[in-house]
Amino acid sequence: MAKAYNARCIVLKHTKLGETDVIVTMIAEDGRQIRAVAKGLRKPGNRIGARLELFGEAELLLHEGRSLDIVREVRTIATNAAIRDELERTASASVEAELLEKLGRDGVILGERMYEMSATALRAMAEAPARKSVLIVAAFLLKAMAMQGFAPATRECALCGTPIERVHGFDVSYGGALCDACLSRLGICTTIDPAASAWIEALIFSTFAEIGEIESYPEIELLDLAHMWVREHAGFELKSIAFLKMLLM
Ligand SMILES: [Zn+2]
Repeated sequence: MAKAYNARCIVLKHTKLGETDVIVTMIAEDGRQIRAVAKGLRKPGNRIGARLELFGEAELLLHEGRSLDIVREVRTIATNAAIRDELERTASASVEAELLEKLGRDGVILGERMYEMSATALRAMAEAPARKSVLIVAAFLLKAMAMQGFAPATRECALCGTPIERVHGFDVSYGGALCDACLSRLGICTTIDPAASAWIEALIFSTFAEIGEIESYPEIELLDLAHMWVREHAGFELKSIAFLKMLLM
């Protein structure tokens, strides 16, 4: 008999399978990725379909299958329905989901803290005004990369460790803020606006609720910057960012 197990999960991605089935990609509470088949999910009135919507959080009963596991039962924890009702929120949450899906491939376990942070970010996106979801996801990208061991230096030089009073240079590939001595030694110009360094620090060290209350911010610049950081240190592109930026133009 197939082994059954329970898992608390966030739904990241739906992939069509055959006529009516769907492969659901999820991050589980322990931070591992689960890909499971939800049979008949695309049939109208499917019993579990509404409980496995994108960006929702649910408690699942799964059966181990030969290649993919099978979803048997689903109990909703958080629908996060407001994310799917508003395009800016949906596009922002898609960026979060893409990062989690790509980081968690090939059996990489992202850990419980990553799960908790991801669930908190989605709830914040559902509750904050739609436009704020952009800043929330930029913060999510930076926080997630910091959790993976790639926190940018913001108060000390990324190369020599000298404390920096006022940041004049910030370089994504060197790992963050650079002191004036290192900047001139390397002969590089700042690759991003040094003021962004203060923003990066604010995004990493503020809670999502606090971020949702920030009044004005350079959202596109911060999103680009967070994406540059992901590209450099995780080594992949986030395709969903292009759509989100298109909405913001
Ligand atoms: Zn230095």
